[in-house]
Amino acid sequence: MAHELIYMDNSATSPVDEEVLKEMLPYFNEKFGNASTLYRLGVDAKKALDKARQQVADLINADVDEITFTSGGTESDNMAIKGVALSEIQKATDKNPRNHIITTTIEHPAVLETCKFLEKFGFEVTYLPVDEDGLISLDDLENAIKESTILITIMHSNNEIGTIQPTKEIGEIARKHNVLFHSDAVQSAGKIPVDVKDQNIDILSLSGHKINGPKGIGAIYIKKGVRFEVFMHGGGQEKGLRSGTENMPGIVGLGKAAELARENLETRMQHNKEIRDALIEKVTSQIKDAYVNGSLEKRLPNNVHFRFSGIEGESLILRLDNEGIDGATGSACSTHDLKGSHVLAAIGVKPALSHGSLRLSIGPENSIDDVDYIVASIKKVVDYLRELSPLWDNETDEYIGDRFEKPLEDEDIDRY
Ligand SMILES: *Cc1c(COP(=O)(O)O)cnc(C)c1O
Repeated sequence: MAHELIYMDNSATSPVDEEVLKEMLPYFNEKFGNASTLYRLGVDAKKALDKARQQVADLINADVDEITFTSGGTESDNMAIKGVALSEIQKATDKNPRNHIITTTIEHPAVLETCKFLEKFGFEVTYLPVDEDGLISLDDLENAIKESTILITIMHSNNEIGTIQPTKEIGEIARKHNVLFHSDAVQSAGKIPVDVKDQNIDILSLSGHKINGPKGIGAIYIKKGVRFEVFMHGGGQEKGLRSGTENMPGIVGLGKAAELARENLETRMQHNKEIRDALIEKVTSQIKDAYVNGSLEKRLPNNVHFRFSGIEGESLILRLDNEGIDGATGSACSTHDLKGSHVLAAIGVKPALSHGSLRLSIGPENSIDDVDYIVASIKKVVDYLRELSPLWDNETDEYIGDRFEKPLEDEDIDRY
């Protein structure tokens, strides 16, 4: 009875593309050289390393020597924020402590936890709020900048609700005030145009496994001339910026995934948008009390995020799995605890409603032909769960959870 698996959780992770895998395989055994050695095996590895670096640079319009390989998005985010913080704090004076960082309330935990960590060491962090669409206000940003501000770290697009921030304008403000701008572009790179030059980005994070590359590999772009403290010390690989013997299969895989993402960007965006818009149109018209979280216009083409009143996301996910559909509630990172999503709280979704959310993230292997089956399955499961729900009145077919709802507290917004 189970349908063939329809995987729609590509923002959590994505399958390695066949072509990517093919490029990677020889680097496990046949071409196993260490890129720091001088014999042919090592020279071949060095060539592959240079090629992959160029492929990643091309994806975001960076120069090749501005790309450093890391173990993924989490490491790139840590390296970016701590690298700038440790560099700037050395220039602190009595008059200017150079310790202020600006970010948002909806960042990925890799950014939020790093900022919280730095607060323990005397750094001061401003967490900018977002509006109901999930967008920051540029005025808020500019007003938050002060003499001691060293870094603005704002994600390119959000991993849960898919909102795309006004990156170019953020970068302009950062430049005007002589503050560095880091952007976590893990969800944007390979999905929408990312251009570090045009968008005024000084430091950027990206990751392999979100773009049909392998897990455990990522990259950081650091604009030439940016003062930066090294975070991983050792043998001096990656021009001393990130020591450790290079993960060659991963690097070659990330390079190929970046190349494919760049070559197919327009087609994939079109493909994703078509499926996204069909899902949004059909679900909101066929299911009662179904809403879309996040901006409809400034939204990743591959992100759909629904909220259904009266049900619980966890039950929805498990029952959809039985129908052969893999999606997510909140974000994959927040399924470890039962707290609501910090992103949904930040856009003003009350906890009970936030629990009834569903993220479907589209990848190249999804098909428009599956949309009707997906919508019918969601409707079937939502109807079933509402029938059992104490928050849903079956007589009147209405949500009655409001009666039990507490107002949203500040502490709900700051948590994740
Ligand atoms: C997945 C993700 C990360 C973490 O990347 P990993 O490669 O899994 O460490 C960071 N930021 C965002 C926005 C993400 O979606």
